Amino acid sequence: MTQQTDQFKKVISHAKEYGFVFPSSEIYDGLSAVYDYAQNGVALKNNIREYWWKSMVQLHENIVGIDAAILMHPTTWKASGHVDAFNDPLIDNKVSKKRYRADVLVEDYVAKIEAKIDKEIQKAAKRFGDSFDEAQFRATNPRVVANQEKATLILKRLGQSLEKEDLADVKALIEELEISCPDTGSRDWTDVKQFNLMFGTKLGASADTAMDLYLRPETAQGIFVNYLNVQKTGRMKLPFGIAQTGKAFRNEIVARQFIFRMREFEQMEMQFFIPPGTQKEWYEQWKQTRLSWHLSLGMGEENYRFHDHEKLAHYADAASDIEFKFPFGFKELEGIHSRTDFDLSSHEKFTGKKLQYFDPERNENYTPYVVETSIGLDRMFLAVFSWALREETLEDGSTRTLLKLPSVLAPTKVVVLPLLKKDGLPELAHKIVDTLKWEYATAYDEKDAVGRRYRRQDALGTPFCITVDHQSLEDNTVTLRDRDSMQQERVAIEDLSSLLGEKLDIKNWLQKI
Ligand code: ATP
Repeated sequence: MTQQTDQFKKVISHAKEYGFVFPSSEIYDGLSAVYDYAQNGVALKNNIREYWWKSMVQLHENIVGIDAAILMHPTTWKASGHVDAFNDPLIDNKVSKKRYRADVLVEDYVAKIEAKIDKEIQKAAKRFGDSFDEAQFRATNPRVVANQEKATLILKRLGQSLEKEDLADVKALIEELEISCPDTGSRDWTDVKQFNLMFGTKLGASADTAMDLYLRPETAQGIFVNYLNVQKTGRMKLPFGIAQTGKAFRNEIVARQFIFRMREFEQMEMQFFIPPGTQKEWYEQWKQTRLSWHLSLGMGEENYRFHDHEKLAHYADAASDIEFKFPFGFKELEGIHSRTDFDLSSHEKFTGKKLQYFDPERNENYTPYVVETSIGLDRMFLAVFSWALREETLEDGSTRTLLKLPSVLAPTKVVVLPLLKKDGLPELAHKIVDTLKWEYATAYDEKDAVGRRYRRQDALGTPFCITVDHQSLEDNTVTLRDRDSMQQERVAIEDLSSLLGEKLDIKNWLQKI
């Protein structure tokens, strides 16, 4: 992992050490780019999924959810274009024998140029202080302007070559930019070839009659093949959406960067069916709605940006990514695609069945258009987790490791700590756990000194610690400690539930969208 920054290394080791993410089958030395979610990781992942599902399905009258199977009729993937066109351009280095995605090599080169621009901006911001105008600096500083032009030109050429399937030009670009193998520095490259990313499998016991299947490379097709079933049984009127979360599988060539690019991962997708001709407005609307969803988690507006695609997939007439600033730079977190009627029309052709809608307002039948929002759950996990992890220097000069997860997503919301393991304090603490656990993921911890217990919960991202001491036995109050401010206040046990609700109730978060 050449791009692995120190911060990123910390993210990976923290995820392991604190029971969030383990390499799959680790006792057999793991399986490349496959990961297991551990006791805390699964809770964080479930909470992210719930945050997405509630915002999509529960809060939209016209969006419903389904859960389609991973295995689908194989012709689905012919119709969707995946059999013929779900390829990545790969290139091998002849010296290191390592395989890379040709487009990623070029994008990484551009990311280095962008990092140079960022550095230049940071230096200038320091020099000019409050009077610094970033937009003006970007537009006028000769070095920044030249670098920006260079980056734009490279991406444009890459986009055009991929669009035209001109793989020789992609190789020429790699050579012209003098991109070398990140492992060995060698510039001895093979030609660029296409590689299909779908995992194949077989259905049936006999070798002769077994049917070739694919593990789905995206969840979207499970929605398209069910379009008519849902529309009819749900008596849905356009515009309406179908949402789904579930596993997808891709035989990624360059599977690195931890859970950013996995071979087995989970997607959260929503296909919004609309009348033809309205795709532009819905596409813009969903871009903004999805960005607001991200911003509602409070991870800083500056960490997101849109990247509109130069190269459009075979099914799209517009596409944009929401990129997030991961520890290794801005990268795609979510895609918003205007998919036209490509998928439904194609399934109509391959099945001979009509997938049309009668629009009573237009008084006509048509095949709906689709705007899709598609986000990787694991990638969202990485975004949240890597943003949240930080080292803080405290007033007394000591440091603490803090996992500043948005509290609505935290795996454990509150932990109850008896100050001592005696005098009836554990009993009262257990009583409080038994009351709170109906509403919040609540834990109990009595090991070690209380200061060390606080630190452990900070590193796990638990927003609240409740400490039960001798005074609690007398007046039914406890201390409530806030993870981020470390402030403690004395509160009545009977008020705990409502006090916690202010910060933890999902409603208060989703209302920000
Ligand atoms: P990339 O360009 O990074 O390969 P993509 O454009 O192929 O991604 P889509 O097909 O649009 O991705 O999939 C939608 C979302 O699914 C992505 O935005 C990403 O969050 C997630 N995703 C895609 N591939 C992977 C993977 N291999 N591992 C984890 N998440 C993934």
